[in-house]
Amino acid sequence: MTKIQMLTPLVEMDGDEMTRIIWKMIKDELLLPYIDLKTEYYDLGLKSRDATDDAITLEAAEATKRLGVAVKCATITPNQARIKEYDLKRMYKSPNGTIRAALDGTVFRAPILVKGIDPYVRTWKRPITMARHAYGDVYRNVEIKVPGAGRAELVFTGEDGQEIREKIFDFKGPGILQGIHNTDRSIESFARACFNYALGLKQDLWFSAKDTISKTYDDNFKHIFQKLYDEEYKPLFDEAGITYFYTLIDDAVARVIRSEGGFVWALKNYDGDVMSDMMATAFGSLAMMTSVLVSPDGKYEYEAAHGTVQRHYYKHLKGEETSTNSVATIFAWTGALRKRGELDGTPDLVRFAGLLEKAVIDTIESGKMTGDLALITTMQGVTKRSTREFILDIREKLDQYLA
Ligand code: NAP
Ligand code: MG
Repeated sequence: MTKIQMLTPLVEMDGDEMTRIIWKMIKDELLLPYIDLKTEYYDLGLKSRDATDDAITLEAAEATKRLGVAVKCATITPNQARIKEYDLKRMYKSPNGTIRAALDGTVFRAPILVKGIDPYVRTWKRPITMARHAYGDVYRNVEIKVPGAGRAELVFTGEDGQEIREKIFDFKGPGILQGIHNTDRSIESFARACFNYALGLKQDLWFSAKDTISKTYDDNFKHIFQKLYDEEYKPLFDEAGITYFYTLIDDAVARVIRSEGGFVWALKNYDGDVMSDMMATAFGSLAMMTSVLVSPDGKYEYEAAHGTVQRHYYKHLKGEETSTNSVATIFAWTGALRKRGELDGTPDLVRFAGLLEKAVIDTIESGKMTGDLALITTMQGVTKRSTREFILDIREKLDQYLA
C-alpha cells in the first residue's frame, strides 16, 4: 500500500505520563503504517520543559503560528508535588496557558457521541460545543488578603495622567480583595473566533454572561458581541440559516438542559472552565471530549480535554495492565490531519481522518471499549479492552475500511 502524502508538517507537541504512552501507540499503530507522517516535533514532556527552561513551549507555540496546525498531547501543569517528583528547577506555568496566550486563542470543546454511551441529559441528541474565552478575568487576577480595617479603592491611571478612582469598600476588619481585568481586543478576538466557528459548523451561537449584576464588565462583553454581529456577521449568519443570541448565564444553563444540543455556547473564562467539565461528564465521559484552540487569524491546535491520567500511568509503571481511553487523543490527531488536509488541498488525508474516526466509533459500538466506558454503557455484553488492545481493535477496523 502506498502511504498517504502530506505537503505541510503538523506541529507535534508530545506530553506526559499515560497520554505520552498512548501518543506513541497511536502513531505506531494508527498513523505511521498509513501516512507518510510529516511533523515538526516538540517535546513538551515535563523533563524537556525543565531542561529548556520552558523555551520549548514557546517554540512550539511559534511553530504553530508559522505552520498553522498543531496537535498536542496532555501535559503536566506542575505543582509542589511535581517539583519534588521531577526535581524541577522551578514551577513552570501551564503549557496550555502559555500556548493560549501566544495564539490569543479561543478553546472549543465538543463531545464525541457514540451509541450506547448516552448523555445523562435525556433530551440531548447532538453535541454541544463550548467556546471558552481563554484570557483574563480571575485567571489573571491580583489578590490581597486585607489585614484589618481600611479603605479599598480601584484606581486607573491613564498614560496621560488622567485618574479614575472608585471606592470598593470600607473594611471594618480583615477580609479579601480581588482585581480582575480584560481587554476589548481580547474580547473581540474571542467573539470573532466564536462567530467564525459557528459559521463553520452551521450551528447557532449562544453567548451568556451576567450583565444584570456586572453592569460594566460583563456588559462590555455583551456589547462587543452584539456590535460585531450587527455590523459584520448578521448577513453571513442569515445566509447560513443560523442565529446568534445573548442570554443571561442562569437562563442559558436552564435552556441548555432543555435543549436537543447542536449549537455553540460561548462562555467567559471561568464559566467555560467550570461548565465544560460538567458538560463533559453529562455527555458521558471526560475521555470523550475533544478540544481545539483557534486563533483569530485561523491557527489551530488540537488536543484531548483530559489530563495525563496519572493514576493509570503509575499502574503502567508497576507493570500492571491499564485500560485507558485513547479516543480523545486519537480525535486530536484526526482533527489536525483533517484541517491540514483541508488547508493543503490533500483530500486523501481528509478522507483518512474520517475513516479513522469511523473505525473508533464502530469499535466502541461493536462492544469493544475501555474500562471507563464499559462502566457507563447501556450496551449488553461488552468486552473491556486494555489500552493497547483497544487501539489494535481500531486498527483492525481501519484496515477493513482502507482495503
Ligand atoms: P486527568 O488526567 O484528566 O484524570 C482524572 C481522572 O479522570 C483519571 O484519574 C481517570 O479516572 C479519568 N480519566 C481521564 N482521562 C481518562 C482517559 N483517557 N481514560 C480513562 N480515564 C480517564 O486529570 P488529573 O488527574 O486531574 O490530572 C493529571 C495531570 O494532568 C495533572 O498533572 C494536570 O496538570 C494534567 N492536566 C493536563 C491537561 C492538559 O494538558 N490539557 C488537562 C488537565 C489536567 P480513574 O482514575 O478513576 O480511572
Ligand atoms: Mg476545568
